[in-house]
Amino acid sequence: MLNDKDLERYARQVIMPKIGEDGQEKLLSARVLVVGAGGLGAPVILYLAAAGIGTLTIIDDDDVSRSDLNRQIIYRDGDVGSSKSRHAANAASTLNPDINISQFAVRLNSTNVEQFVTSHDVVIDCTDNAETRYLMGDAAHHCRRPLVFGGAVRMEGQVSVFQSSVTGHFGSPCYRCVFPSMPDVKQAPGCSEAGILGPIVGLVGTLQALEAIKLILGQPRTLTSRLLMIEGAGSDFIEIKTVARLNCSCCGEPAKDIF
Ligand SMILES: [Zn+2]
Repeated sequence: MLNDKDLERYARQVIMPKIGEDGQEKLLSARVLVVGAGGLGAPVILYLAAAGIGTLTIIDDDDVSRSDLNRQIIYRDGDVGSSKSRHAANAASTLNPDINISQFAVRLNSTNVEQFVTSHDVVIDCTDNAETRYLMGDAAHHCRRPLVFGGAVRMEGQVSVFQSSVTGHFGSPCYRCVFPSMPDVKQAPGCSEAGILGPIVGLVGTLQALEAIKLILGQPRTLTSRLLMIEGAGSDFIEIKTVARLNCSCCGEPAKDIF
């Protein structure tokens, strides 16, 4: 049951027929893992806290740099030099003190990934490095959790949802089906080499937050089996249908178990 404060705080979304009090209770019961509290994580964390995701876990082992501030809008100039996960958690709990927010200044690795992923309902990839992306993609498949993927560089972004081992979505692609091999750094430079414009990560992160909320609410049409590509320079939104690969090293036959 929602209390009076909840009904007031979430009034504008509870009034929506697709959410209602039942939907708000689902959001308040949900556990969401946000890996990376940078340009993508900033809008994801703020929107999910504002929407009343009941349990939000933030992982980032980095400190805030001044060069992060053009896009990582959850931080302030005075935060430079100190822990991203701590400041991000503080910002989220200042916005909404009624939800449970945990933060870990650690790097996701093969030792801790299974525990982090299995203890949440939805996993959101807001990272900026390929190793962690593949680790999360594999773990989400093997732990049967939906993964909300986002990436951005320069004025380009990508968003998708992977549910290859989630009931109702068997046969849909996993992360490795769509991105079979780790990109070469020269071919796919990161933000520090190629640059990044703030509103692009804002767009991608906001779409990731939207997909996560839809997954929790059980809404039928998400970006599962679809890759949305954003070309900011021309304001173009392009959608690609994605399919599972039989010989995928993560979800293909014979099934492999990484744990
Ligand atoms: Zn696959």
